[in-house]
Amino acid sequence: APQPLDLKAFIREVPDFPKPGILFYDISTLLRNPEAWQIATARLAQEVLRFRPDSLAGIESRGFLSAAPVAQRLGCGFTMLRKPGKLPGETVSLAYGLEYGTDTLQVQADAVRPGERVVILDDLLATGGTLAASVALLRKVGAEVVGAAVMIELSELGGREKVDIPVASLMTY
Ligand code: 5GP
Repeated sequence: APQPLDLKAFIREVPDFPKPGILFYDISTLLRNPEAWQIATARLAQEVLRFRPDSLAGIESRGFLSAAPVAQRLGCGFTMLRKPGKLPGETVSLAYGLEYGTDTLQVQADAVRPGERVVILDDLLATGGTLAASVALLRKVGAEVVGAAVMIELSELGGREKVDIPVASLMTY
């Protein structure tokens, strides 16, 4: 059986998903193994702690799966960055370009105090477009974005060069 300490052994590589030619790194198989998921959460928490956050933000929806348990572990609050139309009350939006078309992320206008130190979490960093949009969106509502942490980084796509904050990753492909 795979060793839980070897996190890559729990990531399933799915060819041609969601489109032909794309190799998808599936974290579902890691989430199904409680020891591996605990180790991933503990390692993320260790990385995130170094940024000395006041609170964490997670990107819908797989980002919630790493941000929420890490926030609980560190005793931090947690802010949801969501697809449009999901959050009640006053919201702030940011549209960003994808390979084909655009996408939008939203946050509640009162999500953070001015200058609050926020760390962003997501499952995977690819081109960095999603992370760059999240940084810009959190700055719009007054956050000081001090870092990001992901489980998986696809290093050849250069995502970390798209943002001006430090990025920690647990697994690199
Ligand atoms: P980027 O904006 O950096 O190009 O893409 C990262 C976003 O797309 C993340 O929110 C991530 O959830 C999703 N994503 C892209 N490719 C994959 C993949 O292979 N596996 C997983 N789990 N998520 C992916």
